Amino acid sequence: TNEVKSGSGFKGHAMLAPFTAGWQTTDLNPLVIEKSEGSYVYDTNGKKYLDALAGLWATALGGNEPRLVEAAITQLKKLPFYHSFWNRTTIPSLELAKELQEMFTARKMAKAFFVNSGSEANDTQVKLVWYYNNALGRPDKKKFIARAKSYHGSTLIAASLSGLPALHQKFDLPAPFVLHTDCPHYWRYHLPGETEEEFSTRLANNLEQLILKEGPETIAAFIAEPVMGAGGVIPPPSGYFEKIQAVVKKYDILFIADEVICAFGRLGTMFGCDKYNIKPDLVSLAKALSSAYLPIGAVLVCPEVSEVIHSQSNKLGSFSHGFTYSGHPVACAVAIETLKIYKERNIVDEVNKIAPRFQDGIKAFSDSPIIGEIRGTGLILGTEFVDNKSPNDPFPPEWGVGAYFGAQCEKHGMLVRIAGDNIMMSPPFIISPGEVDELINIYGKALKETEKKVQE
Ligand code: PLP
Repeated sequence: TNEVKSGSGFKGHAMLAPFTAGWQTTDLNPLVIEKSEGSYVYDTNGKKYLDALAGLWATALGGNEPRLVEAAITQLKKLPFYHSFWNRTTIPSLELAKELQEMFTARKMAKAFFVNSGSEANDTQVKLVWYYNNALGRPDKKKFIARAKSYHGSTLIAASLSGLPALHQKFDLPAPFVLHTDCPHYWRYHLPGETEEEFSTRLANNLEQLILKEGPETIAAFIAEPVMGAGGVIPPPSGYFEKIQAVVKKYDILFIADEVICAFGRLGTMFGCDKYNIKPDLVSLAKALSSAYLPIGAVLVCPEVSEVIHSQSNKLGSFSHGFTYSGHPVACAVAIETLKIYKERNIVDEVNKIAPRFQDGIKAFSDSPIIGEIRGTGLILGTEFVDNKSPNDPFPPEWGVGAYFGAQCEKHGMLVRIAGDNIMMSPPFIISPGEVDELINIYGKALKETEKKVQE
């Protein structure tokens, strides 16, 4: 069973969740999810869990939206598959591309390129940017700057862009063309007396110094999540993106917004770029694009980049990149229906209506002696456990404080994301006020139990 045995876990017996993504085995007694309904999922024992992470920051419309099922079935019956190679394509993929270009208004986007995941979107970004610079006759402008603690995916290049040591150390990554700059986490990294604005200025200066040290003519692009997700839910400090964008622009470096988590309402705006006034050249999308009902990702490309790539005078020939399932018609049909629902239900307004209940309800626990910081916006939220309320006093990792908290949540019927002593939540956009109250209640119970365990 998946029950947490009382007395197990914690000091001397940590319950660290193994990283099993992708492996399919019963060896480690996994929690097997069998069914979903709205904001809930059920395991094979029939136990019900509030899905406080929306799967993996993804099932924005919850577990059983009949219109998405219908959209998939209708398309499956009509045309289950055709590819998008050699100037062939399908109606749903064309329609979805048009829809995304219209929806993304922070900056005009000229084209969409479909992939199957967020990782593939970010890998595609790298090839697009290299191809673009090659077409412009500047093949040395190749390096990418990403940020410490960012997450951009698991393929070789997306993992390289990511700024999480666990994704690098075991695999001889990052690739040599990837550089990392500061994580914009004010609470953890600000200097004594430094305001948020000053912190942002310092980080922008550091970025500029890195660019100058490497040579601006070698830096191709900068990539950032509007709110960092897997790194612990880290919203940017005030003034951050304004200052960073000014630096990037100054040196003719492309800005890639990784909106894989933030897009479609998660932050209370249709895109994360809208929230922070980001004017990206390229955008990565996945997850809520189809409410995760089928795998699909996309890259949006601004007119300036698209024109170079598709120009008649481009001597490189066509952009030789794509996947069998790029623009898969069934995934596209589900994504089209997902976007239709977001619009019809004014999903951004809905998120903004429910978000204060969620944010305020959880942030009310900020005084807990084991919590360092609770941070978030819209329907995304992170909790960081530390000793003495100080970012410099982590609990011993072998205690597994975060894992223990996560296990208590699970025991009480709620699933959250645990990464060390960071707890992350991003419930479905359709979560009801009553479900938010339940989420807060379970969080409170799990917190009390974790506080008690720390004192033992
Ligand atoms: N980018 C961000 C910001 C993500 O959070 C993720 C996944 O969580 C990815 C990219 C990778 O997406 P995928 O797991 O679909 O490859």
